[in-house]
Amino acid sequence: MHEEKELRERSAPIELAPDAFRALGHRLVDEIADFLVSLADRPVTPADPPQAVWAAVGERNLPETGQPPGVLLDRAARLLFQHSLLNGHPRFWGYIIGAPAPIGALADCLAAAVNPNCGGWDLAPVASAIEAQTVRWIAQLVGYPEDTGGLLVSGGNMANFIGFLAARRAKAPWDVRQQGMNAPGAPPLRVYASTETHTWIQKAADLFGLGTDAIRQVPTDAAHRMDPAALNRRIQEDRKAGACPFLVVGTAGTVSTGAVDPLPELAAVCQEHNLWFHVDGAYGAPAACAPEAPADLAGLALADSVAIDPHKWLYVPVEAGCVLVKHPDALRDTFSYRPPYYHLDPDEAVIHYYEHGPQNSRGFRALKVWLALQQAGREGYRRMIQEDTRLARALYRLADAHPELEAGTHNLSITTFRFVPADLEVGTPRVEAYLNTLNEAILDRVKRSGAAYISNAVLAERFVLRACVVNFRTTLGDLEALVALVVRLGRELDAALRPAAL
Ligand SMILES: *Cc1c(COP(=O)(O)O)cnc(C)c1O
Repeated sequence: MHEEKELRERSAPIELAPDAFRALGHRLVDEIADFLVSLADRPVTPADPPQAVWAAVGERNLPETGQPPGVLLDRAARLLFQHSLLNGHPRFWGYIIGAPAPIGALADCLAAAVNPNCGGWDLAPVASAIEAQTVRWIAQLVGYPEDTGGLLVSGGNMANFIGFLAARRAKAPWDVRQQGMNAPGAPPLRVYASTETHTWIQKAADLFGLGTDAIRQVPTDAAHRMDPAALNRRIQEDRKAGACPFLVVGTAGTVSTGAVDPLPELAAVCQEHNLWFHVDGAYGAPAACAPEAPADLAGLALADSVAIDPHKWLYVPVEAGCVLVKHPDALRDTFSYRPPYYHLDPDEAVIHYYEHGPQNSRGFRALKVWLALQQAGREGYRRMIQEDTRLARALYRLADAHPELEAGTHNLSITTFRFVPADLEVGTPRVEAYLNTLNEAILDRVKRSGAAYISNAVLAERFVLRACVVNFRTTLGDLEALVALVVRLGRELDAALRPAAL
């Protein structure tokens, strides 16, 4: 029987023979090591036009027959090394993306090889215990109670969504999980967040059935921090009008300028009105471990839930977000169902993570965070975060001291500034409009240059350049080079653009 023989001596086309795996793995690790060594000598981005990217990937159809894995891996490595934006490059400071620790790459390989499914303890005993320890260590790093609940998720958006859902479950005065948002007689829920809050809040209000009109955008002060008195007033108005405030969102490190809301004061408002206090610390929470941290970060400990992104300022590769939830039962109260087909270990000593969040099957994201936290230790993180912060401050000073640059803001490791030609009188609407055009053009040229990578913010209608240093490879010399680049491009573009504009 031919078929029986095949089934007995099966040879699957996806299998890699042990020797082949070893050889290919060693070669790939060598290529990655060479890539890491060469980072600083490469352009931050090749700035390929989209057609070049599509062409590099090619338009072949799904291959009908298999191909040799060595050829495929070589081709994939070349494609990625040559056509990627390199956020591990020492001169990458765009958005908020941490330079990835090399140990994270090895950790992801190890996690994928063993492939624990971190949905249930029975499926991933040691990985579940490592995840719990990672959550506890993150809490210890940022000064949050260490007996917290929490779990690893894909990023800041998901971590914030989970805080949002736990708040809704805990504070809505009806059974939201069973009756949903259309429960008879249910008052409209209201959530409070500053105008500087990241767009996750819109997605959450939309996705979870409140609608974005449920968001009360609380104004900020001149330093982009939420105004607690305005928050208090808005809550009282809504209560009077019959609505149901349930959640206040503070931000520890806003995306535009790194501002930290007055967290202890926001916590006091929540206490007074019996509201859930969630802090979006996706970017800034790790700064709480550093000696020069803003004092308001001590207010993290007062939050009912906190979102933190290890793939930002804990320098692990994407994806890794983390949510901490103070009340130990809050996550299970929000997410748990126990279907008959999961006959899982009922022991109190185990954690089934599928009950703590929206995911069912879950990858082993915790491993890379767990290893990175141990490689650097608290002392190492304190130093890296402090140095990033000092570098951002140094950039602010360089901009401030330069006659053709105007320093904007410096908070945590974010600095904003703009190019202003020395002979230009700022302030009139015409000049301000021109400066916006000029700085937009500078940003575009910097990004396409491959010499450095930054992004922008818009502050009081001013378009400013923005560098966020969450990069353990950056040195002072890299930032001096950025200043020189911006000034050179600024002069060139000003000469080209001003005659037609002013
Ligand atoms: C980055 C960020 C988010 C979103 O996090 P992702 O990891 O991109 O999903 C939310 N809030 C703040 C303050 C952030 O910096």
